[in-house]
Amino acid sequence: MPNCNFNCPFCSNSSLIKKIESLPSIDPQIIEDFITKREKFIDGVVITGGEPTLQPDLPEYIRHIKSLGFLVKLDTNGSDPKMLKDLISQKLVDYIAMDFKAPLDERYAKVTGVPMDLESVKESIKAIYDSDVDYEFRTTVCPAFLDEKDIEEIARSIKGAKKYVLQQFVPRDTLDPALEKVAPYTKEKLEQMAKTCNRYVKTVLRGV
Ligand code: SF4
Repeated sequence: MPNCNFNCPFCSNSSLIKKIESLPSIDPQIIEDFITKREKFIDGVVITGGEPTLQPDLPEYIRHIKSLGFLVKLDTNGSDPKMLKDLISQKLVDYIAMDFKAPLDERYAKVTGVPMDLESVKESIKAIYDSDVDYEFRTTVCPAFLDEKDIEEIARSIKGAKKYVLQQFVPRDTLDPALEKVAPYTKEKLEQMAKTCNRYVKTVLRGV
């Protein structure tokens, strides 16, 4: 599902965000055939993007995938709390991974590259936090935007959450080409950040 309502300069899905009109459309039946033929090896399907909650028929689509017997994980930027609440209340998602881009103030707009409706993001965080669905919050730690203090602030604001993931920034195919010159934090630095975050919430690293 291409397209996104955020424009994170470090986004490594730039091919799914830019020039979406040039992307091929894949018949859902092809996807269904692909997964059902491999059902012995596939437990679940990840619905990702871009931003999947931009698709108004998302609940219907997930309901169909679940009727085939698959678990569903949703990746989201948390911009549509209403859609998230609907999916949760209808028990359509088995796992949610929500991006927590930055501390919840003017830094959020800098990291997402668009003017922000922070109340919607906060509402999504609360809906996930309060739900009985398995979930994680995750932050891509791009050194151009976030430092150790920012990451600690995020962790503090989700104190007691089930899981927090610090994702390594990959300086490749970024939406803003200038970020391809930015060196990621070292593994040691990220480990130090995770150690600090673990005071508030169970934190793991990804991509290091
Ligand atoms: S990182 Fe995620 S939220 Fe940001 S532009 Fe890319 S797909 Fe959208």
